[in-house]
Amino acid sequence: MAQGAIGKAPQKSDSLVRLLGVTKMYKQPDNYDIRVLDDINLDIQPGEFIALLGPSGSGKSTLLRIITGLAEPSYGTVLYRGRPIEGANPHAAMVFQSFALYPWLTVQQNVELGLVAKGVDVEVRKQRAIELIDLIGLNGYEDAFPKELSGGMRQRVGFARALAVDPELLCMDEPFSALDFLTAENLRSELLDLWLESRIPTRAILMVTHGIEEAVYMADRIIVLSKNPARVVADLPNLLPFPRNRKSPEFVQMVDQVYKIVTGWDDEEDGQKAVPEAQPAVSGADHGEPNERPRLKPIPYGHISMLSGLLELVQDRGGHDDLYRLGAELFLEVDDLLPVTETAELFNLAEVSEGDLFITKLGQSFVEGDVNDRKSLIRDQLLDIPIFRIIQRVLTTKANHAMNKEFFSDILEEHFSVAEAERQLITAINWGRFADLFHYDTDTEQLYLDEDQTEEKPAPVQQES
Ligand code: ADP
Repeated sequence: MAQGAIGKAPQKSDSLVRLLGVTKMYKQPDNYDIRVLDDINLDIQPGEFIALLGPSGSGKSTLLRIITGLAEPSYGTVLYRGRPIEGANPHAAMVFQSFALYPWLTVQQNVELGLVAKGVDVEVRKQRAIELIDLIGLNGYEDAFPKELSGGMRQRVGFARALAVDPELLCMDEPFSALDFLTAENLRSELLDLWLESRIPTRAILMVTHGIEEAVYMADRIIVLSKNPARVVADLPNLLPFPRNRKSPEFVQMVDQVYKIVTGWDDEEDGQKAVPEAQPAVSGADHGEPNERPRLKPIPYGHISMLSGLLELVQDRGGHDDLYRLGAELFLEVDDLLPVTETAELFNLAEVSEGDLFITKLGQSFVEGDVNDRKSLIRDQLLDIPIFRIIQRVLTTKANHAMNKEFFSDILEEHFSVAEAERQLITAINWGRFADLFHYDTDTEQLYLDEDQTEEKPAPVQQES
């Protein structure tokens, strides 16, 4: 990790890390700002293993980068041992999902990297790297190159490199999610042993994850972020004793509780919906940002085929089911299931409450209808969503009833990052095509209406966002 400096102006604090009103805005190509993190207040105490959960794209990695000093907040303060951090925090190290090893360096050289940056003497750092390679079970592979290693072995090198600098704060960004099930399980328990037996000098661990079970298995504090923008919607202790048994009723109950929180918050209501024992969402800090304008509400990336399947399944089970159980049965992580349940809610086909999915009357009509009924029902719902009103308005009023995809990308990029705008448009095109609201030509990349579709009246454009 690059050298950084800890600023002066100390403040009395026992916390390792303290975030005060941290807000992060990202500038878009048109100069408008998107608020990704909003008024995050957080204390990390020595001895804590914290799991940070939240939907994809909510800002978990951004928060991790801010805490390690790799990115700066737009507003607010990050204190490390009571002092504002300036630049990369030399007491923190990061383990990445993608391993981030240098392919032209050997295992040993990769592990030594952090020590080179710290100016550690060559003999000392060689010795330290050998000890760590041993600690993480890779002895014999010192001279191997990353391409010769399996995914699990590469991540072991990632851990050894992070641990080489004796970090007080170990940050991990989905460290197990690129590994196969058994390898991930092995590495999790080995890391837990190192931590619980104090065989590493690390004082606190902060792990970004999308796995609720992983969080409950490893962490003793679980923080849940909302999305658009990210706020802390829950901060709860996990007091289950170690070793944790995934099958024990207490473990299952804890997973269920977190599941309810993760599936329970509702950005439309700017807070939570039936969230048990969660801290109330902190109200957004108003920094009077002149360039920030109301955002078009993002649509979830639910696939219609998955939506249909899920609703049929739940309908067959009496019209409601426990989402956690459903996810486990279908081998779906909450991250895979949430976009589909959010889509069901957006289309008024289902409601989620206390971790259960309930099919609405409209949802029943959808399940019982044939494909044409389903298309027409979704079409009605789409016309209530701003981006579809815009698309329909443009296509019906334009003389040739066709428009380049890029035109709508440009509109969306005024509200979202380029990558997010692309994902939004792909989802919108998929939904619109399913509902026969418009057609899309993949060769010309044009959205267009055919004769039947142009007979429909244009939807009035509303000022909502
Ligand atoms: P997560 O880790 O929860 O998946 P991220 O922190 O990676 O979320 O991203 C949060 C949001 O911020 C996303 O919408 C992403 O597109 C946007 N974002 C992240 N980094 C940048 C950047 N450097 N510039 C603009 N937008 C960004």
